[in-house]
Amino acid sequence: MNVPAPLTNLKIQYTKIFINNEWHDSVSGKKFPVINPATEEKICDVEEGDKEDVNKAVKAARQAFQIGSPWRTMDASERGRLLNKLADLVERDRQLLATMESMNAGKIFANAYTMDLGSSVNVLRYYASWADKIQGRTIPIDGKFFSYTRHEPVGVCGQIIPWNFPLIMLMWKIGPAVCCGNTVIIKPAEQTPLTALHVASLIKEAGFPPGVVNIVPGYGPTAGAAISSHMDVDKVAFTGSTEVGMLIKEAAGKSNLKRVSLELGGKSPCIVFADADLDNAVEFAHQGVFFHQGQCCTAASRLFVEESIYNEFVQRSVERAKKYTLGNPLNPGVQQGPQIDKEQYTKILDLIESGKKEGAKLECGGGSWGDKGYFIQPTVFSNVTDDMRIAKEEIFGPVQQIMKFKTIDEVIKRANNTHYGLSGAVFTKDLDKALTVSSVLQSGTVWVNCYGGGSCQAPFGGFKMSGNGREMGEYALHEYIEVKTVTVKISEKNS
Ligand code: NAP
Ligand code: MG
Repeated sequence: MNVPAPLTNLKIQYTKIFINNEWHDSVSGKKFPVINPATEEKICDVEEGDKEDVNKAVKAARQAFQIGSPWRTMDASERGRLLNKLADLVERDRQLLATMESMNAGKIFANAYTMDLGSSVNVLRYYASWADKIQGRTIPIDGKFFSYTRHEPVGVCGQIIPWNFPLIMLMWKIGPAVCCGNTVIIKPAEQTPLTALHVASLIKEAGFPPGVVNIVPGYGPTAGAAISSHMDVDKVAFTGSTEVGMLIKEAAGKSNLKRVSLELGGKSPCIVFADADLDNAVEFAHQGVFFHQGQCCTAASRLFVEESIYNEFVQRSVERAKKYTLGNPLNPGVQQGPQIDKEQYTKILDLIESGKKEGAKLECGGGSWGDKGYFIQPTVFSNVTDDMRIAKEEIFGPVQQIMKFKTIDEVIKRANNTHYGLSGAVFTKDLDKALTVSSVLQSGTVWVNCYGGGSCQAPFGGFKMSGNGREMGEYALHEYIEVKTVTVKISEKNS
């Protein structure tokens, strides 16, 4: 794909709260700053949504969902057309959105342009085509009855998203919810509200009725908590940390038992057997943990390598990690950008220090980089053992942990010895080993001889404390529909 240069004259047009297809100031009058993590400079101020603003948004979403409203009476195919129209507008503004995403989220511009924008458009089009294919069944129940199911929208959905993939997460939430006929209130992450607000303007331009999609920027403990504990929100979908995921479920339980779907963290095992294609395994294991500065929930952050190839694998992984050019992600040639903010940067440096103290061998990196921006050197640790913090905690940074194993039984036990269960991978040429490991790994996704290839057609989600429910693919539709059984008495029944 031909990647253009980023826009040099990017103007931030949208900084307000989007409710009912209109722009609102915050009720409190407060704003919050949005920072460029590569320069630590302020990009702009954005209206800070809180409980009162969430209440306004919920009212709008409820109004749009009323029986007889334009949204409820719209043909399902028309919902699909609107999602396709939104996809067209995102494509039209691709260069602008990629520039904004790069500047606000620290993403390498070329990746933002090809990957983030590419998958955002794909997700919208995928769910656009589902809109008129969501259907119930007729069911041959006992007796003289005609029985069928309707797949109805759940209602008003609150959606809370993180900063690592601001646009993609927005589309993962809007696509399935809207194609099923729900209305939504979205809270983007405090660090990265800008592309969501630009998309809000496109939602209006596409012609969605007012109140169908509402976007309330703000902080988690205020605006986020107001969504998860709201008595008139029917469902909440959350992506972020396991810690906050637990708060969301608690808030749902303490309020109206709203439906909850969660996509949380991980500490994903990547298992490399001695018979694997080494070049392939080194590169995928590397990309698996270093992609987007390590800020992926699926990060391959526990790498288990069979003893006989361990030393060579470590050496090749270190050579690979040393190849990076760090810098402003808008500049051509830069391969690694900054971490999202000071808090993450400090947390990662602290975990790196813990690795050194607990006796892992620092092979390269191990500190910060540059004199401004939240940059961290690509870091590789060998001789890592399972009890170290770097082997247990989600780091969310460019830090690779390489562990050694001897037998398949041992590595399976160790790989599953975690509360997380998001993803995992196995590298081998032996089909039997590949199938054995992929069937017993306790995780929502397993890759064989590759890592990290997600797509909108395949379900994604976690076992154990990595989440509840599935996003993407047909499976995601189940999170956004209620099944209603309708039974009609009839005078005579024939088979
Ligand atoms: P986070 O706090 O879980 O943030 C995710 C979203 O939840 C944000 O929109 C956040 O708002 C909101 N939130 C925070 N507290 C809330 C509450 N009490 N009620 C409702 N919503 C709330 O994650 P983070 O602080 O950005 O990152 C911390 C760690 O989470 C990372 O180190 C990483 O381990 C993990 N993480 C995982 C993913 C993933 O894709 N699974 C993504 C990002 C982070 P604010 O914007 O105000 O925080
Ligand atoms: Mg946070």
